[in-house]
Amino acid sequence: QLTLDEVTKTFQDDDGEIIAVDEVSVDIEDGEFLCVVGPSGCGKSTTLRMIAGLEDITRGEIRLDGQIINDQPPARRNVAMVFQSYALYPHMTVRENMAFGLEESTDMPDDEINERVEQACRDMDIFELIDRKPGELSGGQQQRVALGRAIVRDPEVFLMDEPLANLDAKLKAEMRTELQELQQDLDVTTVYVTHDQTEAMTMSDRIAILNDGVLQQCATPLECYHEPNNLFVAGFIGEPS
Ligand code: ATP
Ligand code: MG
Repeated sequence: QLTLDEVTKTFQDDDGEIIAVDEVSVDIEDGEFLCVVGPSGCGKSTTLRMIAGLEDITRGEIRLDGQIINDQPPARRNVAMVFQSYALYPHMTVRENMAFGLEESTDMPDDEINERVEQACRDMDIFELIDRKPGELSGGQQQRVALGRAIVRDPEVFLMDEPLANLDAKLKAEMRTELQELQQDLDVTTVYVTHDQTEAMTMSDRIAILNDGVLQQCATPLECYHEPNNLFVAGFIGEPS
C-alpha cells in the first residue's frame, strides 16, 4: 500500500509562497490503478515527483507498505517513473537506455541486468529493436522503451505523467489498451497523471481530482460521476476533454 499522509509542497517565489500541493492524503491499494486529474497547475506532476523522490516534500509523509520513503533517494524507493518518450537518451541504444543507472543504483550483476532488459523488450514486443537508437524508432516504439525502462526495475509502483500525451489518437488508443494489459499482468500499483478524461474514466480503479493543490475527491469513476463531492468535481468530470 502506498500512502500519502497530508503531503504538502510549497515553492518560494518573488511574491511569497506557492502551495503547489496542500495536505493531500490518500491510500493507494496494491495493484490499484489510480488516475490523477485536475486543471493545469493543480499539482499533479509535483505530487508524482514527490512520490518518485525527484522533489522533496515540505510537510507530511509518504509511506510504502508502512515504511516511510520520503527521506529515501529515488533509487531506493521501489517506485519507477515512466517518463515521456522524449526523455530517452538519443545517443544510447534501446538496451543502454533501459539499463541506464541500474548498475550504479542497485547491486544487480551485469548478466542479470542484461537478462532483465531482454525480457522487458520481449514483454514490450521491441526485442528486434534492442540495438537501435531512439531516433530510429516510431513514437509508439519509443514509448514502449520508456515503459520497458520502468519494467526492468521491477518496482512496486509505476508513476506515469501523461505518458501518452505526445502520441496521435490512434496510437494513444492502442497504447492505452496495452498499458492496461501490462499493468494487470504485472499487477503493479500505478499512479497515472492524465489530462484525458476518457483515459481517467476508462482505465482507472479510482480517480483523484485535484484543484489548486487540494484533493477534491478520490473515488471510482462512477462515484465521481454520480456522487461528486462538490461542484468542482461535478463540473470537471462532466466536462468533455
Ligand atoms: P499541468 O497539467 O500543466 O502539467 P500540474 O498539475 O502538473 O500542471 P504542477 O507542475 O504540479 O502542475 O505545478 C503545481 C504548481 O506548482 C503550479 O502553480 C506551478 O507553477 C508550481 N510549481 C511547480 N514547480 C515549481 C518550481 N520548481 N518552482 C516554483 N513553482 C513551481
Ligand atoms: Mg504536469
